[in-house]
Amino acid sequence: MKYAKIELHLHLDGSIDLVWGYKTALKRRVIDEKTTFEQYYSMMYKNDYPTREERMKKFDFPCAVMQEKEDLSDSVYYLAKRLNELGLIYAEVRFAPQQHTLAGCNQKEAILAVVEGIKRAERDFPDLTIKLINCLMHKGKDADVNMKENMETVEATRETLGKYVVALDLAGYENTGDFMKYAPLFEKAREYGIPYTIHAGEMGDGSHVLDALKMKAYRIGHGINCVDHPDWLKAMVESQIPMEVCVSSNCGDGRNYAAHPIMKMLEAGCNITLNSDNMMFSRTNILNEHAQLRSIGVTEEQLRQCMENAVNAAFCDEETKIQLRKKLGIEGF
Ligand SMILES: [Zn+2]
Repeated sequence: MKYAKIELHLHLDGSIDLVWGYKTALKRRVIDEKTTFEQYYSMMYKNDYPTREERMKKFDFPCAVMQEKEDLSDSVYYLAKRLNELGLIYAEVRFAPQQHTLAGCNQKEAILAVVEGIKRAERDFPDLTIKLINCLMHKGKDADVNMKENMETVEATRETLGKYVVALDLAGYENTGDFMKYAPLFEKAREYGIPYTIHAGEMGDGSHVLDALKMKAYRIGHGINCVDHPDWLKAMVESQIPMEVCVSSNCGDGRNYAAHPIMKMLEAGCNITLNSDNMMFSRTNILNEHAQLRSIGVTEEQLRQCMENAVNAAFCDEETKIQLRKKLGIEGF
């Protein structure tokens, strides 16, 4: 469909091109030279993790092949190539710079390496615009564990903010520790004029969406557990904060789309955008997300509205939004 072509919530490490990832894992000796593509594939799609925390560890693998500047640059380039093939016209890709410093890059260098890949993609795929969001990491229990690295991410984002780097995010182990301990990082971001989204109410308690509002988030990543309490859902509707919903990712391997709270959120009047989260790990893309939602009764009008919401909530400048609306055929702007 014409309007199904924007992504606001796409993790670079969870969305890398599988073939590129395999070749790079061999080249960097992340996997043994005897490892076949089929073995690599089953490692990537292993799904018998005992807990959600364990499941998060699968991100270690793509992170391991994205340490050299050249690989960081190529990872986003090949993702952009795929997005272009799918017909997307705009995507905000996110990654956590502090996870990519093992080969000697500092965070700013890691960001600039990804930006270099985006610039190459921009030249080769002129119909696609890519922006970059830098993720702060929630590493569990105590925010102090990586407060220093997170503050470095805020500083590196300030230094690189511009045409390509557009915002911050908080990602990681949402369901442990005190969420509000991250507030000082976002105070700093506001001081620097950096907009931000926050993963909240995805794997963790639904009340985290209220914390995200308290921390003055511009958007919320997922937020689906807001349906667990009428007051939390009401706060989402009343604030009209844009919510980056990623249905396949939330459904996991069970893929029971009808059990997902999106219908309840749509009916309540939440400001919803639709996204893929992790194209590789969740074996999905934005076209598939729309197809799955149609299958559970989401209407064309609701899908069109979600895409319009995404343009309104995008972290790009107004001129880019005007172009996106023209391309998407959204009238009245
Ligand atoms: Zn996410």
